Amino acid sequence: MSSKPGGEADPITRVAEFFSHIDGVDFAVIASQDGFPLSFTGVEREETDEIVSLAIDLENVSRNYLEKLARGEGPREGGRGILLEYGEGRVIDISRVRDLLVIAGGGKPVIDASRAAVMFLSGKTVECPYCGADLTLEKARCPRCGRVIPFIADRCPHCGADVRVKKCPHCGRPVTHMGGRVALKRPPIAAAFASSLGVAGGALALLASYLLGASTPITLASAVAGFGLVWAASYAAFPKRPVPQATAGLE
Ligand SMILES: [Zn+2]
Ligand SMILES: [Zn+2]
Repeated sequence: MSSKPGGEADPITRVAEFFSHIDGVDFAVIASQDGFPLSFTGVEREETDEIVSLAIDLENVSRNYLEKLARGEGPREGGRGILLEYGEGRVIDISRVRDLLVIAGGGKPVIDASRAAVMFLSGKTVECPYCGADLTLEKARCPRCGRVIPFIADRCPHCGADVRVKKCPHCGRPVTHMGGRVALKRPPIAAAFASSLGVAGGALALLASYLLGASTPITLASAVAGFGLVWAASYAAFPKRPVPQATAGLE
């Protein structure tokens, strides 16, 4: 592990640190293409050589498999060549990024975490549309199961919750997992809810003006006004929900 003087860790160390914070990622190794481990987390130094050589073997097997698929041979399912299982059924994800090899193992979160790491090391970023903070290697907590997941995950890899909308850890505004804006909107049921209360409001106004002996035009007008006022008030009171807006690029 190394870090540049002056505080900010170098990108490879930052990626290893990121992996170390994600629940369900057991280990990660960032190696050079010729198999030299540069940074790692969750494993002992002595284990990294074995993991890297195994990863290179698996990647070669996987590449042959992909070539077969491209020629129309072999089964159609699967497809993602770098996703393999080894050892005690741990998912291992191997990605080549520029002159680096990123290897991560553990459960399902490895896929999202690797994606974030590959994006970051390739220089692609997910940014907050409001404050511009780089969210590529940010973490978030799943609101349903409470586990730490990559910010760029759209579904919680542990419990399956929809986690497209999260708060930017820098400015606190809701953004999508890919850095899109989020609009607060009332769901379609709000109009139906307001209409049913509006009808009740109109009926009460009608009854009240009838009992007060008002003329027919005034009775009708107060019924319409009662409906309108109650409709508007209950529609405005209906809580808004965050709705992800279309994101530009990256998806
Ligand atoms: Zn969850
Ligand atoms: Zn922000």
